[in-house]
Amino acid sequence: MLVKDYCKAVMACNNEEEEVIKQGLMIKRSQNKKRFSPVNYKSRWFVLTRKHLIYYDTEGEKRKEKGRISLKSIKFVEIATLQDLSADSSVVQTGLPLQIGYVESGQDYVLYVLTNENQERDDWINALRSLCAHNDVNNTFHNGVWNGKRWSCCRASTRNSAGCTNTTTWPATTAPQETVSNPVTTPTMPGGTPSAKVKEPMTRPKIVIALYPFKAIEGGDLSLEKGAEYEVIDDAQEHWWKVKDSTGTVGYIPSNYVKEKELIGLQKYEWYVGDMSRQRAESLLKQEEKEGCFVVRNSSTKGLYTLSLYTKVPHPHVKHYHIKQNGRNGDFYLSEKHTCPSIPDLINYHRHNSGGLASRLKASPCDRPAPPTAGLSHDKWEIDPAELLLMEELGSGQFGVVRRGKWRGCIDTAVKMMKEGTMSEDDFIEEAKVMTKLQHSNLVQLYGVCSKHRPIYIVTEYMKHGSLLNYLRRHENTLGGNVDLLLDMCIQVCKGMAYLERHNYIHRDLAARNCLVGSENVVKVADFGLARYVLDDQYTSSGGTKFPIKWAPPEVLNYTRFSSKSDVWAYGVLMWEVFTCGKMPYGRLKNTEVVERVQRGIILQRPQACLKEVYEIMKLCWAHCPEDRPSFRALKEQLSIVGQSITD
Ligand code: ADP
Repeated sequence: MLVKDYCKAVMACNNEEEEVIKQGLMIKRSQNKKRFSPVNYKSRWFVLTRKHLIYYDTEGEKRKEKGRISLKSIKFVEIATLQDLSADSSVVQTGLPLQIGYVESGQDYVLYVLTNENQERDDWINALRSLCAHNDVNNTFHNGVWNGKRWSCCRASTRNSAGCTNTTTWPATTAPQETVSNPVTTPTMPGGTPSAKVKEPMTRPKIVIALYPFKAIEGGDLSLEKGAEYEVIDDAQEHWWKVKDSTGTVGYIPSNYVKEKELIGLQKYEWYVGDMSRQRAESLLKQEEKEGCFVVRNSSTKGLYTLSLYTKVPHPHVKHYHIKQNGRNGDFYLSEKHTCPSIPDLINYHRHNSGGLASRLKASPCDRPAPPTAGLSHDKWEIDPAELLLMEELGSGQFGVVRRGKWRGCIDTAVKMMKEGTMSEDDFIEEAKVMTKLQHSNLVQLYGVCSKHRPIYIVTEYMKHGSLLNYLRRHENTLGGNVDLLLDMCIQVCKGMAYLERHNYIHRDLAARNCLVGSENVVKVADFGLARYVLDDQYTSSGGTKFPIKWAPPEVLNYTRFSSKSDVWAYGVLMWEVFTCGKMPYGRLKNTEVVERVQRGIILQRPQACLKEVYEIMKLCWAHCPEDRPSFRALKEQLSIVGQSITD
């Protein structure tokens, strides 16, 4: 594919960050934006993400997007009453309608959709309201429809007349006081009879479910039991929420260990691994080596899922099956003969019947690691060295020795012992408070610092396979030809960098040596921002012997001008390192020769293992002017498009 085609594809492609929260088939009422078109009802596949409600045509194998509503624009989500005499009355009579009011280009619109079952409708309403909890919502709405002349509910004859019914109070994200039982007008009758008034509490508590166990060590924290429910008392801080357990005990928990009950979807199942790539799913399953071991993961095509299954027959390998959907009723299937209304039902079915699969589904990999927390406890970034058991040396670098550590006997950490005089410590310690708050699955988590004694320690997440550069070199034989695995590593680094870019955080020393590899082939970016605190002139000045010249773009070489776009240049060099399995960029050329080449626009050559499409992306990173380089966000999209074309 040509670069310009990627760009087009990127525009068309849904934003990868738009995790699918909920999806399903519903009947959509035509919106009658054009005045004279007759009302009709069509079956549509709805996908709810954190940003949009998107609906697709369900005809044929491929889904075609028919429209989307930005969640930000939503003003109410309510039950509706439809009386469309002109339309297909059987649809209207049997379906359970809900309505979504929103504003587009300053104009009010209502989207009416019908579900088959009450529970389904409640689930959609709750999921939408949860995601729009911070919206500026309307106080009133019309529970009927506009028939071209009047509102069917209150007979008002202007389309934009004030609503005749109060909207339901939405869930509060923070429930600071006890919930108040005030009678609120709310149309929640099965079948959509709007006249029913139900007493509902003023604010519904936000309930979350623990995805991982968490052991409270510090006072004020609360332990989590996997699968248990907790009520959120205070979610004002991003990473540590105050919650109440079933016994009424209140304490802080890491917010990335729980998920809102209404949004949990497949995440409650052991076998669902979310955004895991095909390559990582393969290495995870191969590691387990168990016949029938499986996971379900998000497919590279948005909103679809893939089953990855390990079998030893006829030889040990992993098979990948797209979970398909029936365009007629939305049922899921792996083989057309056996369809099920939901993915968990489908998995259960294939636990008992191989039904065309290479094996019956048996176990899924257990004990998958819980993610690191942002800091070791709520509001904690100063770590007591007495609580750190120091173990073997992991390596040594620029700042000194790095050793493995155990915090309070249970959490694995890496402890960087900073050689005195190598960094401006006070400034760094201040910065560390901010850095502990940066949290992403492709960034090495900073847990905190021991700053009260010298040398100071920087305590981070432990990554068992060490630096990416050494990993590439050590495994050259197995990695060398494995283009999709190498690409997957690049994509992971890009995701971590896109997060830093979003938070306006510049790395300044991105290179394979500053990324680390953990279990399940996870790659994470380390040492972000540290370069600013280095005191050694040889490292900080572009003329210095330790300055990372080979990763530096012209504006850094000339004016030491760092930006996210200078990180993008370095990222291109990192991609080159990955695809050469850890070769030194520009071989043995001296720094002065490299500078001269870069100034003249001579770039690194395409590595042998690297596809043309991937090299095209590297070249984009090496645009002479920073403005001409893509952002990490755009790079991420482009790389995943190439990834899809390799693996599909
Ligand atoms: P410096 O920043 O002082 O140059 P590095 O961060 O490069 O030091 O660390 C030196 C080595 O220590 C790395 O190459 C890696 O092998 C090991 N190491 C560093 N951090 C970790 C970690 N979080 N987990 C595991 N090993 C690590």
